Amino acid sequence: MTGEPLRADRLYRFYRAGDEETLALQGVSLTVSKGEVVAVVGPSGAGKSTLLACLTGLDEPTGGTVWLGARRLSHQPEALRARLRARQIGVVTQAGNLFGHLSVLDNVKMVQRLGGASNGDAHGLLESLGIAARGGAYPPELSGGESSRAGLAVALANDPPVLVADEPTGELDEATEQTLLILLRQRADQGKAVLIASHSAAVRRSADRVLTLRDGKLAA
Ligand code: ADP
Ligand code: MG
Repeated sequence: MTGEPLRADRLYRFYRAGDEETLALQGVSLTVSKGEVVAVVGPSGAGKSTLLACLTGLDEPTGGTVWLGARRLSHQPEALRARLRARQIGVVTQAGNLFGHLSVLDNVKMVQRLGGASNGDAHGLLESLGIAARGGAYPPELSGGESSRAGLAVALANDPPVLVADEPTGELDEATEQTLLILLRQRADQGKAVLIASHSAAVRRSADRVLTLRDGKLAA
């Protein structure tokens, strides 16, 4: 079909534990275009994290297909999924994606090496996010706002066309949340596709499109 950066076609994800079956995703289809910020909202347990894990290749859907541009991400060998993820998707999580024993700058450089872009301008990236002065700091030394910028720097290390964030503002104060949302919007303005799962009203307001997930299904 099209060259949309991120596309999901009828995703299903079932979890089974003994006799219990949880239908976490029940036929979710979505597209995120270049330049677009899309929010996925819904109550806790609706399936947001499961959806994002499938979209980033961290998890495999039970059924359905995830496409990154013209490349199929789902139902591929783990090593290929990891390679596609490293190059094409920036993942921002609430828990953070930083290694505590590496400085902020080294965290970014390591991710650039993994993505095959060892000549990336890590310092310039930190500058663009307003956190260059903290490049030598270790993650446990960072404030909440600095952590969120550093986490974003790691997600952007390989300049991915797709950025996916799971509750990225969950633990941030309002001002820091606003700053992060502005940075995500700037990415979209640079032609990237941005998907944010959240139940924050500010995230909802900042999005071009809001998708509501409930019991594993998108509301019409
Ligand atoms: P959200 O992020 O919207 O809160 P989740 O995607 O985390 O929702 O969870 C969706 C449903 O799938 C919930 O009912 C949750 O309990 C279940 N679930 C999530 N992960 C697992 C797992 N690894 N094993 C079993 N059930 C799971
Ligand atoms: Mg979640």
